[in-house]
Amino acid sequence: MQVLSRDILEPNSTIGIIGGGQLGRMMALAAKFMGYRIVVLDPSPDSPCGQVADQKIIANYTDGQALKKLAEMADVLTYEFENVNVKALQKIENQVNVPQGSRLLEITQDRILEKQYLSSCQVKLAPYVVVNDQTDLLQAICSLDYPVILKTVRGGYDGKGQVLLRSEEDLEQALNLFQQGICVLEKQIALEKEISVVVTGNRNGQIEVFPVSENIHQNHILHQSIVPARISSTLAEKVENLAKKIAESLSLQGNLAIEMFVSKAGELLVNELAPRPHNSGHYTIEACNISQFAQHIRAIVGLPLLKPKLNTAVVMVNILGQHVQEVLEQRGKNPHWFVHFYGKKERKENRKMGHLTILTEDVEKVQEELEKTKIWNK
Ligand code: ADP
Ligand code: MG
Repeated sequence: MQVLSRDILEPNSTIGIIGGGQLGRMMALAAKFMGYRIVVLDPSPDSPCGQVADQKIIANYTDGQALKKLAEMADVLTYEFENVNVKALQKIENQVNVPQGSRLLEITQDRILEKQYLSSCQVKLAPYVVVNDQTDLLQAICSLDYPVILKTVRGGYDGKGQVLLRSEEDLEQALNLFQQGICVLEKQIALEKEISVVVTGNRNGQIEVFPVSENIHQNHILHQSIVPARISSTLAEKVENLAKKIAESLSLQGNLAIEMFVSKAGELLVNELAPRPHNSGHYTIEACNISQFAQHIRAIVGLPLLKPKLNTAVVMVNILGQHVQEVLEQRGKNPHWFVHFYGKKERKENRKMGHLTILTEDVEKVQEELEKTKIWNK
């Protein structure tokens, strides 16, 4: 697809990023290769993205003044997480180009809106009921039946803000969630596999889909991504078409990750959306002809997208706080490990500190190798 050069953001222009985490950092690094400057908004003075950015604004994401300043400094604005204040963003949308827009954010930061939107696109979901209080919850359990998962509508990540209810005994713990606001109750699906896909759109309507990733979680946190996902080619094609359909209906610009369940009954259900690069797409850095970060930057600066191609099978493993020491000790004897760290100082339990990628022709062998390290037993 040809794009007029005047429609492409010039090198040395500035990309503003809301959020200074690892996703922002990897976006920024990809953008630096293309000659762009980066300004990041994050409350931490030493955020992962702040460390590689040209300029930083140290303030809360909800700080209207700070967002205004970011808009003034940037030629184009993007975000690396979905919990940005929509109203504050709408205020600056006429001041600076925000290709992803505020509507996508509005939908994806609210589980109810997201589910309603997906249903309106005829996308299948796990059965769910919106619940406001204990009475609603008891009624919803009657209709869905145990096991069910109660999730806060807003702000959840890595399994935070959700409680699994297997029986009445779990009710009390679940009730605490209502303190965080309105919730949804979902039927717990008997899972065959979890998969995800990253799709990218640009303003010319081009849509490209990365290969499907198979995701293994530990304690509700992504542990491993295996690509290509070990699913039938028919299912992979179905996923690709689903991703294109969702991207098209949203007039997507930038990346969107779609998390999905493959149920034991063989159904494909969408779990949730993330309007940004995604942890399960980190494998693209080494295994594809273009990384999810570079593709996202291309999309927001008006460049044509590349058709993603997987060069080799790959396993990506997350490095959490409790894994760092062992990875540091073992990486010297594993030259084939691509080890990434995000520049976070404090090694907190379950905090994502980095990831490692192994390119392979034999996924099971790599999984065995990783198991033998015993690093991820903790
Ligand atoms: P988060 O925002 O924390 O990623 P998710 O809704 O993706 O929240 O849930 C995290 C994980 O919990 C999922 O990846 C999956 O392993 C499990 N999970 C969530 N909802 C369901 C469900 N309805 N059925 C089965 N497993 C679920
Ligand atoms: Mg999730």
